[in-house]
Amino acid sequence: MNAGIISVGNELLSGFTLDSNSTWMARKLLDFGITVDLKLTIPDDEGEITAAFKVMFDRCDIILCTGGLGPTSDDVTKDAYCKYIGAELYLDEDYLTDLQKRFERRGLTMSDSNREQAMVPDKGETIQNSLGSALGLRYQDGERRIFVMPGVPSEMKRMMEETVLPELEKLPREELHVTTIRLTGIMESALYDQVKDLVNNDVVKVAFLPGFLGVDVRLMSRDKESLLELSGQIFDRIGNYVYAEDWETLEDAVGRLLIERGLTLATAESCTGGLLGSRITNVAGSSEYFLGGIVSYSDAAKMNLLGVSQETLNQFGAVSEETAQEMAAGVRKVLQSDVGVSITGIAGPSGGTEDKPVGLVYIAVDVAGDVASRRFVFSQDRRYNKELSAQAALNMVRLSLV
Ligand code: AMP
Ligand code: MG
Repeated sequence: MNAGIISVGNELLSGFTLDSNSTWMARKLLDFGITVDLKLTIPDDEGEITAAFKVMFDRCDIILCTGGLGPTSDDVTKDAYCKYIGAELYLDEDYLTDLQKRFERRGLTMSDSNREQAMVPDKGETIQNSLGSALGLRYQDGERRIFVMPGVPSEMKRMMEETVLPELEKLPREELHVTTIRLTGIMESALYDQVKDLVNNDVVKVAFLPGFLGVDVRLMSRDKESLLELSGQIFDRIGNYVYAEDWETLEDAVGRLLIERGLTLATAESCTGGLLGSRITNVAGSSEYFLGGIVSYSDAAKMNLLGVSQETLNQFGAVSEETAQEMAAGVRKVLQSDVGVSITGIAGPSGGTEDKPVGLVYIAVDVAGDVASRRFVFSQDRRYNKELSAQAALNMVRLSLV
């Protein structure tokens, strides 16, 4: 069973609106083992819409279309749909009465274009819209099904959940198993080199999904055993870079490990300005292990709030391994935590020298007096440097706990 999705709207093509509907729909279908093989994003144009239906009809068992059902003249999906299935519009008196009542209840008067919403095709079925006035449309020809829904995300989602998904759930289907292995601290190319003999697999589809903070490796298969076997093999080779599976984030994983080990954490941040603390506190329940953080941007703050020594700052500078270590130890002491983590670096774009370039960052983790520190050289971009520093710090905390 496969599906195709048509997203209709000029605003989707011009870049003003993100086509979040099709992403949401595809994820929902996957839960039923239905894969989306084709997506089309097209303008509010009758010819384009009928052409899209034609293309989809040849290739997909299920066609989901969203957008262009509104009451204004730029909404032409209903007309295109009628043309495609050979239907005529007629006035559905019952729905018109229903609409009128809804408008009255809200003290509104109906316009002609609102009345248009009660024009329905004489073929196929309509789908109730409990959040808006545009009806959805459903048409079946043999085993092929077309569902047309509004573009407003809340209305589309409600229709999918109330009507479309319950119907699809009843169809005979084959389960699809999905696992995402999440890695950080390794480049996609290095990762690939270590597992390339494993991933040319006919039974399990493997996707490498790099982002600037890490790489997700997504495995999909109809066969659960094969998927588990392959994910186990991958884990055996590169497990130390794996921080989580599926939806868990790095900060979730760090929180989970701290709770498991019954440890508390405090942060001392310079160049990230609190970003690390912000990420840690993205996790609900982080108050269980996160005691607090000190943003020590200036040398004075590093000395006065964290107890970094004047000599260390004079001799090695604020951006140095020594300072990072004293910051981590200092915040542990001040906030009485088991683990202290610190970040000090040069975010840029200015402030770099030959010895200490933009992107140079030192991170230290102090676990009960046992200190590990590392030097990184990230990028030229200030925002990236902050994001990458927070990510690397979280990962170092994770590694100190596993
Ligand atoms: P429409 O049903 O085409 O009149 O669209 C109504 C509203 O839903 C518009 O304001 C769009 O911004 C939004 N919308 C339409 N299509 C999508 C889509 N594929 N993803 C997210 N939002 C959408
Ligand atoms: Mg539209």
